[in-house]
Amino acid sequence: MVIYGYNGAHVRTAPVPGACPSCLAEDSLRASVYSRYAHVYYIPLFPFGKPVAAACANCNLSWDQKELPAQLREPVRALKRETRLPLWTWSGTALLVLGMGWAAVAGTQNSRENDAFLAAPRVGDIYTVRAKNDDPNYSLLKVVAVKGPTVDVVENQFQIDNDHPIDALNSPGKYGKETFSLSQFELKIMQNKGQLTDVDRLETE
Ligand SMILES: [Zn+2]
Repeated sequence: MVIYGYNGAHVRTAPVPGACPSCLAEDSLRASVYSRYAHVYYIPLFPFGKPVAAACANCNLSWDQKELPAQLREPVRALKRETRLPLWTWSGTALLVLGMGWAAVAGTQNSRENDAFLAAPRVGDIYTVRAKNDDPNYSLLKVVAVKGPTVDVVENQFQIDNDHPIDALNSPGKYGKETFSLSQFELKIMQNKGQLTDVDRLETE
């Protein structure tokens, strides 16, 4: 269940000059500005609105925005204008943007690495492959020999419904014994067709 909704937070309270319209006490009026913000799982996403309210400290009468006495409207409006909503009400959005930026950088880096590994294959490279570009099941090919522009690979005997199958499938016993050859050209075509989605070079050698 996604928990989302709106919250309010007190931002600022300031005195308002003049006398209370109800009890006539001088200098007893206070106005408050609140920040209303949307949240998901209590992480603030963005602010949307600055409700205001006013109260008399002497008689404790209070007014919300719609029922402000005429003399209070202008000073309260001014206070609202000069009150900035706190930046933290944007923190969830900031996190999302940072996360997307990080994913984009990581994605670009990974695809550059894949290209470099395909161009200069090494024994032990592992290709994540699937039968078609919309197949949810992935398997692995492992490079066992490099012969110029051609690699010999063994095929993993298993498939898994996960685009990062290496953790589950990459153990020696899960690969077949039979090798077959793939040229760099064929690998590039598989990559362009979305059949070869990742190249991993495990740093164990
Ligand atoms: Zn009062």
